[in-house]
Amino acid sequence: MAHYLIIGQGIAGTVLAYTLLQRGHQVQIIDNDQPQTASKVAAGLFNPVTGYRMVKTWLADQLFPFLQAFYPALEAYLEAKFFYPLPMYRPFESVAQQNEVLAEISDEKFAAYVEKTFFPNEYGKKIKDPFGGVLLKKSGYVNLPVMLSAARKKWQADNILHNATFSEAQVELDKEKVHYQGMAVDYLVLCRGWQETQSSWFALPFRPVKGEILQVRFTDETYGHIINRSCWILPQPDQSYRIGATYYPQDVSLEPSLKGRQELTAKLHSLTGAKWEIMGHLAGVRPATFDRRPFIGLHPVYRRVCIFNGLGSKGVSLAPYFAAVLADFLEGKTQFLPKEVDIARCGRI
Ligand SMILES: Cc1cc2nc3c(=O)[nH]c(=O)nc-3n(C[C@H](O)[C@H](O)[C@H](O)COP(=O)(O)OP(=O)(O)OC[C@H]3O[C@@H](n4cnc5c(N)ncnc54)[C@H](O)[C@@H]3O)c2cc1C
Repeated sequence: MAHYLIIGQGIAGTVLAYTLLQRGHQVQIIDNDQPQTASKVAAGLFNPVTGYRMVKTWLADQLFPFLQAFYPALEAYLEAKFFYPLPMYRPFESVAQQNEVLAEISDEKFAAYVEKTFFPNEYGKKIKDPFGGVLLKKSGYVNLPVMLSAARKKWQADNILHNATFSEAQVELDKEKVHYQGMAVDYLVLCRGWQETQSSWFALPFRPVKGEILQVRFTDETYGHIINRSCWILPQPDQSYRIGATYYPQDVSLEPSLKGRQELTAKLHSLTGAKWEIMGHLAGVRPATFDRRPFIGLHPVYRRVCIFNGLGSKGVSLAPYFAAVLADFLEGKTQFLPKEVDIARCGRI
């Protein structure tokens, strides 16, 4: 049994804290409840088949079965509903894409992911699909604001989560313990998202990417699937929809921009002929990395300080599996972290 202090209660901190608590560890969390973090703004989509050619994402066969079990268990623990499996309709962009994808998905390895293919203009609901499309399964979304606030409420009541800003200057380290404001813990785990770039401990090659989404209401149509072609339409339980997302590298401003609004409305017009009104516009910064893989590991000098970060655009699908990977490592069940995620790949930090 070990004692952990986690900094940050976004997806990373929440999923890791739950994982460690389930294994019987003692956990404390410090989070300063910033209003516009990536986790609060994100649509929470998960989707194992992505890209122009609709290929399986990295580690799909490990990540997706894992998350399908993880989030329902977390829902039960938090007594809240936030996990929504939902098929995704992907209208094709062109005849070329139609041909390539139909050839690709005829392979048996895709059978588990494809619900149905559609002929040109068959889907209906004012969706512009002149080349047809494919309805994918095993996708869906996690309503992150609901998940995060349910965890926050429970852990504040249980005296696990403390609403405060963590300061590195107040940390004292010795070989066995990390001392912070009267606490003595075995490991300090930093889960501060893109703000880790301001850290004095981990100078890692982050590549933060700003993202914006719109919240809209359709006035003459409803959608029961996620629709995705250059932007996505994500149905919400309250009959509103999220539209996203932009991808602006090297921008860490948190203000929604006119450019973002114009880009998303233009993409939405090209996807549907339905009418809508904008109800909200949000921006956040993704903690992306130089090689699009997470940053996980122990500090090379301060061996009681650890990082769980770099979830990029895929926090929902990466966090559950890699929280378990990190927990196994810290518990000594595995000797090494997978090379692709271990911060040791970044050289000197
Ligand atoms: C517009 C947009 C859309 C996205 N859509 C998706 C999607 O559909 N699916 C998907 O999987 N991912 C999506 N993402 C990416 C996803 O949001 C991130 O991968 C994920 O949220 C990163 O989580 P995190 O916990 O690492 O960081 P964060 O969410 O940034 O959390 C960090 C936490 O640390 C706290 N903190 C920071 N510094 C301190 C401090 N000094 N003291 C105390 N607390 C501190 C912050 O308050 C915050 O709560 C999207 C991101 C954006 C911006």
